[in-house]
Amino acid sequence: MEELPQQIGRYRIDRLLGAGSMGNVYLAHDADLDRPVAVKTLRDLALDPETREVFLSRFQNEARAAARLQHPNIVQIFDVGDDPDVGPYLVFEYVPGHTLKQALKKRGVLSRDELLDLAQQVADALTTAHMAGVIHRDLKPENLLITNNGQVKLADFGIARIPNAELTKEGQFLGTPCYAAPETLRSGEYSEQSDLFSFGAVIYEAACGERAFPGSEALAVAHKVMSTDPVPPSEANRGAAIPSALDAAILRALRKRPSDRYASARTFASALRQAYEGRRPPRSRRRSTSLPFAMTSTIGLLLALWFAVENCNSRDSNGGAGTKAAALADAGADSGAAMDAATAAETDAGPDALSPHEREEAAKDELANARAALANGDLAGATSALERASSFDPNNPDIGELQEQVRALQADGG
Ligand code: ADP
Ligand code: MG
Repeated sequence: MEELPQQIGRYRIDRLLGAGSMGNVYLAHDADLDRPVAVKTLRDLALDPETREVFLSRFQNEARAAARLQHPNIVQIFDVGDDPDVGPYLVFEYVPGHTLKQALKKRGVLSRDELLDLAQQVADALTTAHMAGVIHRDLKPENLLITNNGQVKLADFGIARIPNAELTKEGQFLGTPCYAAPETLRSGEYSEQSDLFSFGAVIYEAACGERAFPGSEALAVAHKVMSTDPVPPSEANRGAAIPSALDAAILRALRKRPSDRYASARTFASALRQAYEGRRPPRSRRRSTSLPFAMTSTIGLLLALWFAVENCNSRDSNGGAGTKAAALADAGADSGAAMDAATAAETDAGPDALSPHEREEAAKDELANARAALANGDLAGATSALERASSFDPNNPDIGELQEQVRALQADGG
């Protein structure tokens, strides 16, 4: 067991909060500002020079990515420094509570309201990052911190892609295969869509208590991610009573082809809400093939996965899946007010909660649904898809045109 440093820079160390792949995170006290902070260090500076260099550049990357982003659902960075004894360190706001990983380990699954609340907050965090040109690249339950009153904070931008940065280099897999998108494993292609896939994998697990791509061996998991479709959440855990519309909404985020996923994180959160309300999620514009989209095995992948093996193996299995709704905020925390319905209501992701671009994308999705319904002779389905399209983007001229066609067909007696 490593010894706890007493002081790092001006921060007095209280206890270890967590240990990740690269370093330790300590709870500390900032005496100057009289507030608790989280101090992150590199765990082992006696690494070989090359690995040390990689870790140092990730550290710098994390500081810069976090500094670009200011949002209540993203852990805020306060300071950076270099301590003569401990080495470089980053100082973040302290988030009292627990990680989503801890919550799921303790609770198994989240309730409907908790899941929607989580999805909305993660969607808001991702939207902020994406709008700033930052791709997180390592979205997973241990990087989602949840405060004791249910606020979710996205942490760990260590391998995030930020504009104009060294670590931005494409074509290299970084991260954890358990939540990684197939195109990142195959060819290191990171995008907003790959973050969305990881978001889908997190929501899958929060809904049914099982990982979308289970397994304890990184290469086997990576193979599954690239070549097999996940079992629908309702089948993965029959005890969780997951509606079939929710299955469909979650699985769409996990499509192999990036363009078959949602247009944005907020569209996904909104589709989850609609699914619980009994509405089918919009179908993707391009239909995915039933054949595995990505069946390439890359030698580079074998090399790149070495450090991720530990991440998969160290994950505790989620015993007790099927446990019903105690409060998310209560899970894994000493104290904890329930995440209340008011919060869920506040974060409703109807058309008004989307950006203009997301509304346009959602309208296009609904138009595609309407065309598909029309092709199947389902005039009622086409009408309601067009109504939804119009609620997202009343200015889209295709909607009126299609509505005319539907009316004409109705007048002809279908
Ligand atoms: P790594 O890059 O090593 O994975 P993380 O930033 O993910 O490091 O932090 C590791 C763990 O430390 C997290 O899973 C969490 O348990 C804890 N942690 C990180 N940041 C904070 C914070 N700001 N407040 C409270 N706990 C934190
Ligand atoms: Mg982490």
